Amino acid sequence: MKVVSSAGREDVAIVYIAETADGRRVEFVESIQPPVPREKKWVLIVSTLFGCPCGCRMCDAGGDYGGRLSTEQILFQIDYMIKKRYPEMKIPAEKFKIQFARMGEPALNPNVLDVLLELPGRYNAPGLMPAVSTIAPSGSEEFFERLLGIKEEFYRGRFQLQFSIHTTDSKMRDWLVPAGKWGLEKIARYGERFFRKGDRKITLNFALTEEAKMDAEILRGYFDPENYLIKITPVNPTERVQENKLSSYLKTGMGKYGRIDKLKNAGYDVVISIGELEENSIGSNCGQYISYYLKSERKSQKSYSYKIKAI
Ligand code: SF4
Repeated sequence: MKVVSSAGREDVAIVYIAETADGRRVEFVESIQPPVPREKKWVLIVSTLFGCPCGCRMCDAGGDYGGRLSTEQILFQIDYMIKKRYPEMKIPAEKFKIQFARMGEPALNPNVLDVLLELPGRYNAPGLMPAVSTIAPSGSEEFFERLLGIKEEFYRGRFQLQFSIHTTDSKMRDWLVPAGKWGLEKIARYGERFFRKGDRKITLNFALTEEAKMDAEILRGYFDPENYLIKITPVNPTERVQENKLSSYLKTGMGKYGRIDKLKNAGYDVVISIGELEENSIGSNCGQYISYYLKSERKSQKSYSYKIKAI
């Protein structure tokens, strides 16, 4: 695999595009959250599949699916970003997050588990905190069993597990995430085993649209606020979001969100994760943003707008 181009800004986020010998492409990202310096928090987001078979309505990674990345190909992305800044593989960041969330559902690729096993010995990174963000696809039971064991052995208190829920309405959820997946009850049963005192709370993520229901009572019926927190993210203006005419519940400049207050009243910690809006222009927020943009005939002006530099 070879890095062929990049786009973005040093002080926010950089997307890299890498190509395999047979011409398949993946994207990966490094970002910081200004004004927090890189030494405090550095986030890497890596791809785990070529495309994604899940086809979520808000994600540009869905669609063409070209297989799993090997363990080496996933590590290549991480190595590339680390070596560029820290050739000695010593990462000073107090919080060094590696997110398996960029492109491709990680639970469909068991090589992600091998990468998780490799990380602690490969880098000198006291702040290492891996994060797996998943829809919990059907048939991934073995992946999650192994993940639980790996968390217990290597990452107690410093592993972030996030389930993408998006809505409490099962019909709407099936439309937004049109792939076989665990229901809320099954996620909750697993979460009860996964979370132990001292671990980071499990995140329930809602990339919340105006239309999607988010019922605090339904959530309380399954998920104990002692073990779970809720993260609300904007629906980023990907090409696919615009095609599907989805409208984000979180909007720039709005301060009051009644639906979120209901979650807080139900006892949940709620994180509103708007991030850097500039990332929408850089294309570092979601899926295979740049590649999809380049293929798209409409070339929406609302999303990607940075110059892509050859490497
Ligand atoms: S959101 Fe995740 S699971 Fe859904 S299509 Fe995108 S990469 Fe795949």
